[in-house]
Amino acid sequence: MGKSIGVELLICPFCKSKVQAENSQKISCISCHSEFYYENNILLFKKFNNEVITDELDRLKTLFKKWNNLYDFLIKVLSPVFIQMNLKKFIKDHTNDETIAINLGSGNSNLSEKITNVDIFPYENVNVCCDVNNIPIAEASVDLVINTAVLEHVTSPENVVDEIYRILKTGGIVYTYFPFIQPYHASPYDYSRRTIEGLKILHKRFDIKEVRIGAGPTSGFLWVLQEWLAILLSFGIKRIHHYVYLLVMVVTFPLKYLDLILSRFSTSNNISSAFILIARKK
Ligand SMILES: [Zn+2]
Repeated sequence: MGKSIGVELLICPFCKSKVQAENSQKISCISCHSEFYYENNILLFKKFNNEVITDELDRLKTLFKKWNNLYDFLIKVLSPVFIQMNLKKFIKDHTNDETIAINLGSGNSNLSEKITNVDIFPYENVNVCCDVNNIPIAEASVDLVINTAVLEHVTSPENVVDEIYRILKTGGIVYTYFPFIQPYHASPYDYSRRTIEGLKILHKRFDIKEVRIGAGPTSGFLWVLQEWLAILLSFGIKRIHHYVYLLVMVVTFPLKYLDLILSRFSTSNNISSAFILIARKK
């Protein structure tokens, strides 16, 4: 589990007023008196029901996410995407014991004991379960917001980036990992992709410090190739598509390591799998 967040930094998602602790299991809004509860140490403002997951592959992923380390290992090794986030170093360089840091849309990952995990699903590593469109955290109270592969899964990335801007202190930092060339992947839905220019426009209120490749062109190409092969070899039969896909993935994944070299070329921006943007609130 991540670092718990102080009640003094929380607000009511309905009326935006302050909240107060009633006891160790309950907080309440001082204005509209809405009550919010802890369940297995997770503070629940809102949660998605797992029944919304209709995509079979997504259901399989959700099952694996329960075994966090195994899931991370499988994603790291077998997935078509060679991810170049360098998050461990980034977090080490940008946090200390006083830092208020959020991993927004954390899933079940737990990047550091200095980070508070926020997600719509109540995975066991999650501290605060809420809608990322309406984050129950007070304005200008956070030093760092990390969001990786989250914004393509929300209906309005602009709205969520506005929320990130609102909760950050002046000078606070956002780290966004956003996909560009990737096939459709439900989690539980998938809405959009961005080019580098599109990612910059999304963060136009910020002082942009760095934009770089987060996963390179082989990753972009390989994932699309795997999906294409799965479509071809499953003859349009949806039931076997996912299994063919998994088989193709296991056979072809080593190609992705070409990105160790190709991600260094700026021409790779044309078909890179994902970009990272790091920016500061003005
Ligand atoms: Zn309220």
